[in-house]
Parts: sequence; C-alpha cells; structure tokens
Amino acid sequence: MRWQGGRQGGGGVEDRRGMGGGAIAGGGLGVGVLAIIGYLVFGIDPSTTTQLASQFGGVGAEQQQGQVGTPRDEAGQFVDVIGGNINDVWAQKLKGYQRPNVVIYEQGTQTGCGMGQSAMGPFYCPTDKTVYLDLGFWQEMETQLGASGADFARAYVIAHEFGHHIQTLTGTSEQVRKAQQRASGQGEANRYSVALELQADCYAGVWAKNASAVSNGEVALDAGEFAEGMKTAQAIGDDTLQRRGGGRVSPESFTHGSSAQRVEWLQRGYQSGDPASCDTFSGA
Ligand SMILES: [Zn+2]
Repeated sequence: MRWQGGRQGGGGVEDRRGMGGGAIAGGGLGVGVLAIIGYLVFGIDPSTTTQLASQFGGVGAEQQQGQVGTPRDEAGQFVDVIGGNINDVWAQKLKGYQRPNVVIYEQGTQTGCGMGQSAMGPFYCPTDKTVYLDLGFWQEMETQLGASGADFARAYVIAHEFGHHIQTLTGTSEQVRKAQQRASGQGEANRYSVALELQADCYAGVWAKNASAVSNGEVALDAGEFAEGMKTAQAIGDDTLQRRGGGRVSPESFTHGSSAQRVEWLQRGYQSGDPASCDTFSGA
C-alpha cells in the first residue's frame, strides 16, 4: 500500500502511548470488564451504544490527555495519514461531516465508554466520538501478515472504526440502539448488530475505493492488494479471536457476521465507492 507520501496532520491523532493504563490498576477495572461482557452476552456491541458510558463513564478516573499531532514513529504516522485520508473521503461523501478524535494507546486508557483495554482490540466510542487504537494489535498483524498485507489490513480496521463514527453522525447507531431495546429476543438484537458491523465494513470499502482520488494517488492500493488484504484480514480476525479467548474480551468479536458476509459488504462498498450502496439493514 502506498501511503508514506501522504499528507500528515489530518488524522487528529492523540498519542497516549507510554502514559500507562491510567486507572487500569484500580478496582474499577473488574466492574468495567464485567459490564462489557454483559453487553456482549446480550449482543450489543459497546462500540454502538452509549449505555456503557452512562453506567461508568463518570467513574472518576482522571482524564488522560496525550500529545496531539503527527507521531514521530512509522506506526503512528500511518494512523495519521490514513485517518486524514479517510476524513478527506468522508468530507466529500457526507454533508456536514466532522472528523472523530483518534487516540492511539497501549495497554489501557480512559475512554468516554469506560476503560479501554488492549484486549478489546480497536473500537469506537460514540460518547466522545473517538476511535481508540491499540498499536500492540498492529504488531500482531505485522507478525502474522508481513508488511504489505498488514498495511491494508490495518487501514481497513481504521476505516471500519471510522465507519462506526459515520453511523453515529447519521443517527444510524442510535436507531439501532433503540431497535435493540425493542427487540423481542437476543437473536433479533444480534441481527441489528451484524447489520451495523457489515455496514461499517461496507463504509471501509467506500473509503478504499476513494482513497487514491482524494489524495492524488498519494494514498493508494491496487485491486490485487485489496483482495489479498481482505483474505488476510479475515484470517487474522478469526485467529486473533481464538487466541483472545480464555476470559479476554473483544467487543468486536461477537457481532460481525460471517467472514463471507464481511467480504461481500467490503467488496460492495469498494465496487460502488458510494455509501448509498451500504444498506445492510434491509434484510436484517
Ligand atoms: Zn465494528
């Protein structure tokens, strides 16, 4: 994937690496983890609900504030350039678009949705409109995929989380949350979650299609890379989830739909380049 000539400073990245886990050693952690497991059991992705925040958002942990700007290291710069590029795409595709905050962290950090932990993987918190990225997860992808496949897989993860931000801006997340509250059972609630996740995948495809055009080719991937990256992203997804079993929590794991569905919707977004093609709810 081409990205290193891309514009820096557009990602709105806040770097909290090296700040430690904040309140992670405190007694609140167990409660937070249990609450998240509870939401997963009921099929509600914490990335799509504000309920978590109302439960323990104001828990009193100190506010963490990292350095805002372009990080010096390559992994941080990647997030900045790709995030900026995703912002440029959505500024064209969505009227009144406002970019999310992006926080990169390691181990754990305070979020508007409770304590964020590396074990959760990347996630989006609608309460503070922030994408949280644990770069330790990046390292895992690198190890598994090698540099070229990993670049697109990482970008896809970022674009997927930005997709949840889009859903917050458009009100779709809130509609889904209400529909889930009305849902007659867990199966129905899960179908909404899956539709939401597949739409975020489709939005990632929309980004991928438009990445080069909005950057005059400075951020670009070719079709072959897209296909390869997709395969490997799926592979590491399942693999990572398995290794993350045994009590570790990954909010993104339970409600994403099958691998085949994910590939299908990512491709739909990529082929059309148009968010209007991302209606995953019709059949939900
Ligand atoms: Zn998601």
